[in-house]
Amino acid sequence: MTYGLALLIDDDPVFRALTEDMLLDAGVGAVEMAENGLEALARLDGGLAPDLLVCDLNMPAHDGVSLIRSLAERNFPGKVLIISGEASAVIEAVANLARMQNLNIIGSIRKPLSMDALTDVLNRAVPVQKRYGGFAPAQPALLDAAIDRGALHPFFQAKVCMKTGRIAGAEALARIAVTQNEFANPVPYIELAESTNKIDELTLSLSRVVAHHVKRYFVHGNPMPVSINISPLSLARRDFPDQIAAALETNGLSPAQVTLEVTETRLMEYGPDALETMTRMRIKGFGLSVDDFGTGYSNIDRLRMFPFTELKIDQTFTRNVFTDNFARAAVETSVRLAKELGLKIVAEGIETPEMWHYLAGLGIDEGQGYLMAYPLAPPDFVELLARGIAPIQGLKRA
Ligand code: C2E
Ligand code: CA
Ligand code: CA
Repeated sequence: MTYGLALLIDDDPVFRALTEDMLLDAGVGAVEMAENGLEALARLDGGLAPDLLVCDLNMPAHDGVSLIRSLAERNFPGKVLIISGEASAVIEAVANLARMQNLNIIGSIRKPLSMDALTDVLNRAVPVQKRYGGFAPAQPALLDAAIDRGALHPFFQAKVCMKTGRIAGAEALARIAVTQNEFANPVPYIELAESTNKIDELTLSLSRVVAHHVKRYFVHGNPMPVSINISPLSLARRDFPDQIAAALETNGLSPAQVTLEVTETRLMEYGPDALETMTRMRIKGFGLSVDDFGTGYSNIDRLRMFPFTELKIDQTFTRNVFTDNFARAAVETSVRLAKELGLKIVAEGIETPEMWHYLAGLGIDEGQGYLMAYPLAPPDFVELLARGIAPIQGLKRA
């Protein structure tokens, strides 16, 4: 991937000059420089908008660690590359700190910097996340319109079989219609629905629309499997499995075709009520997926307690397998765990052919990600079903 403008921050003028040359040789359009974090922040606050920030960690005024915090506070949208002479464990810890604060770290390189290491990191970097309408705060009136008056729309993202490269099913992702052609990201609306006790209604309303579409979708002659996200709060409601089964069945969809996804983030907090609800979901015929796996620190015993059928590796791990040893270890451990428990394993956030091949090589069953398909509005998804996904570079079709 190519960058238009990089901001290089290092207190050593010789290193700055050398690195500037290397960045330009690697295809970066232009390079601006700052001597320390404070100067860099002043330039950013003054309107400089680099799409790549290259920084040292050990600098006299406002070191790299403080700079990372300040960048996170400003929601810096560009990519960040750390180049430092510190021990690898220190560099990796800072990179993890940055990731935890949602900065977009593309890698870390230990000095001395080589052209190979630099081009490697720059070329491996993944495209910027594409969002629908951004993350504007939720409007309460729109939430009500979504639940009651048809402003809630499912987009469908293909789940692709990693052996054959063919569509195996889809995940329904909620979108809120702001105008006829503009859709808001669901996250603020889901949080608002959760805090105002409307999340069950939202999920049921979405499920009705999902069923309406999906009953007409087929993959290779069979009814298409679909996944729906469930809030952990709904697990506290005993009649929720009946309600969601009814919402789907009214519109002609059987629970046997549906997998419900619950996040692992709060699995450690799930008690007997949640276990009871999940068990009832399985009895009704739903599949049950543990979503965002790796974010919740649950161990194998905890996982074994719940009747899951699928494990979905969180996209932060997928995205960082090539830049972060911890992410790679988390992915490999999750695969072993899923196999031991007999769960289907899905990886989300696949953005490059390299990621696909690495994950397919680990024996992951299904993949989801922008490489294969974005979440699509129903008419676009129907077209995708007819056309199939574009061949993955280097994958022979079975
Ligand atoms: P999630 O369940 O983890 O869904 C995956 C998210 O990753 C989706 O974001 C999807 O658009 C995005 N994504 C898919 N492939 C890629 C990729 O290759 N790269 C990157 N960077 N991102 C990718 P989305 O649609 O914005 O949804 C965000 C979250 O909102 C979902 O995360 C889910 O937790 C929640 N959500 C969405 N719809 C519903 C719903 O109906 N009910 C509930 N309770 N939560 C929902
Ligand atoms: Ca999900
Ligand atoms: Ca997820």
